[in-house]
Formats: sequence, structure tokens, C-alpha cells
Amino acid sequence: MKTMLAAVLYGKEQVRVERVPVPKIASGDLLVRVRAALTCGTDVKVFRRGYHALMIVPPAVFGHEFAGDVVAVGDSVTRFQPGQRVVSANSAPCLECFYCRRGKPNLCEDLQFNNGAYAEYIRVPARVVERNTYEVAPHLSYRDAALAEPLACVVKGLDDTGLAAGDTVAVIGIGPIGSMFVRLAKLRGARVIAVGRRRAKLEHTLTLGADRVVATEETLDPVAAVRELTGGHGADIVIEAVGQAQTWNWSVAMLRRGGVVNFFGGPPSGTRVELDTNLLHYSEITCKASFHHTPKAFRDALDIIESGGITAADFVQAEDSLESLPQVLFQLMEGSRTLKTAIIP
Ligand SMILES: [Zn+2]
Ligand SMILES: [Zn+2]
Repeated sequence: MKTMLAAVLYGKEQVRVERVPVPKIASGDLLVRVRAALTCGTDVKVFRRGYHALMIVPPAVFGHEFAGDVVAVGDSVTRFQPGQRVVSANSAPCLECFYCRRGKPNLCEDLQFNNGAYAEYIRVPARVVERNTYEVAPHLSYRDAALAEPLACVVKGLDDTGLAAGDTVAVIGIGPIGSMFVRLAKLRGARVIAVGRRRAKLEHTLTLGADRVVATEETLDPVAAVRELTGGHGADIVIEAVGQAQTWNWSVAMLRRGGVVNFFGGPPSGTRVELDTNLLHYSEITCKASFHHTPKAFRDALDIIESGGITAADFVQAEDSLESLPQVLFQLMEGSRTLKTAIIP
């Protein structure tokens, strides 16, 4: 049996890089030699907790942002052939269920997830091949292409807010996802205020297009700071990309009347927040939340990357071998690495 090196998640903070069989493919599948896999906040969360109810149950291969080369195709595959460079999303909807028929494929009752990007090879199942896999344009690097999945979540998240050019958007949280929101909002013509803890890290968002920054380590009242930067009105749109009760509260308080908040960051399950009903009602505040992505958002994200709007150089801070993944995950968990790392298996 042919084997390969892969990272296997065994549980809480337990990842081992070991030899496992190369995945077998069925008729509609692809076998892809992974050339770059990117770390993601979700992976760090999974590593810390040991599982993800929806996405992954250990022991399992994991990692979900990748691009690579097709090395084998199933009998029924016609769109792809060995040798092509491809990028795939980490899921595909059924297109038949209650939610899919209502135009919400991200809420699909039978969303098929695919994990195993931290490995030499990954199987891409037929449904993902059909609905969420594309050839990578020649001018893109593997790591550029691998940004399509997280960017797809961001594209959907911003689309959900109804952002228009000229709007002021406050983004709370400047990890990889928050930083991508800053960049994308700027590309779409918004005025962007980035809110993060450390001034030093906020400097990076200025290079991505943030017009103003608010460092919470320097101010007791970030809500007042954002209001001050918006003529006292508050932001048209607030994106919460931290996932904590406190920042969910800030988001609502930073909005102008009639504004839209997207609670993008998911706090730990069981978290409750209290909201001022008067504020919501009399200020006509719209509260949204976005989960995951859709095939359309994935395609849109890849188009943005192809046009050069988003490049790996801005979001990928380091490169490491597959063997060093457990150590990289610890560093991401402790915060000594903050943006993404490209794992090259
Ligand atoms: Zn991800
Ligand atoms: Zn469905």
C-alpha cells in the first residue's frame, strides 16, 4: 500500500505527523498532491478543543485551505486531468435540501466537508470536485490560490451587510479574517476603521487599506473612539471578527442608527450576550451573522485573488514543513504567530 506523511488530529492539543495510506479515490474524485496548506483560526480552535462538531471528529486528517496538483482523477471526471494546478473549497452543498432550495447553500442540511490538507495528498470528493474546485490561473502561487476558502467566508460576510462604496466600516479584530475584511472593504470603496488590541499589529492593517485604527490597549473606550471618527454618528457597518461577548457588545454600540452589524466571530458555545432592546429598536439596528461560504462566494473570492486584489504576501507570514505543524499550532494558539503560515508538505 502506498503511504504518505499526514497530520492526524487525535484530540485536544494532540496532532501527530505520521505515515498513513494515500487516500483512495472513487469515480468522481480527484487525488491532489498538496503544494501549500494554510493555517486557519478554525484549525487552531479545533486543535485547542480537540474536535469541531460540524467539521471534524478525531482521529482524522485535518487542514482545509490548500492548493496543489492533480495526480489522479476518477473514471467519471471530465473537467480535470493529472498535471493541472487546482484549488478546492473545504465543503460542498447538496443543492437539494430545504436550505439549498431557498438559496442558502451555506446552511445546507447535508454540507459535505473535506479535511486533510496537512498531508502530502488529499482526496477531493466528487461533490466538491463538481461544485467547488477550479484550475489555478498560471500567474498565481499555490498559497495565493489557497486563500480562496477563507476569503470566500469574508466575501459572503461582507455581501451579507449590503456594503456600498462610501460606507464607513469598522472591523473589530485584526487576525487573518479581520485583516481580510479590512482589505476587501477597502477594495469595495469603503472607509475602514480597524479596531485591534495592539498598535504595533494595527500598523499592518494600514498597509491593507485601513484609513484609521483604534488600539484598544490605548483607549478605555473604543466605542467612543469609533464614534469620534465618524462625526459622532457611529459606523454604517460593523464587522465583529473576534468572537467574544465584549466585542459583540461593542459592535452594536459602535453603529450609527440604521446600521448593520455582522457578528462574524463565533464565541464559544454557551456564550450569552445582553443587548439593549431600546437601542436596537429605536436605532433600527440590523444584526446579522454569517456562517461559512457558498459556491458563488468561493468563485468570487478566486476572481478577486486572480485580479490581484488579495495576495498571500499580505496574509501569510511564514512557511514551514509539515513536520513542524504541531509546533506551529502551539505558536498560533499562544499568539506568538498571528497571521497565516503556509505548510509545505
Ligand atoms: Zn479556514
Ligand atoms: Zn443542501
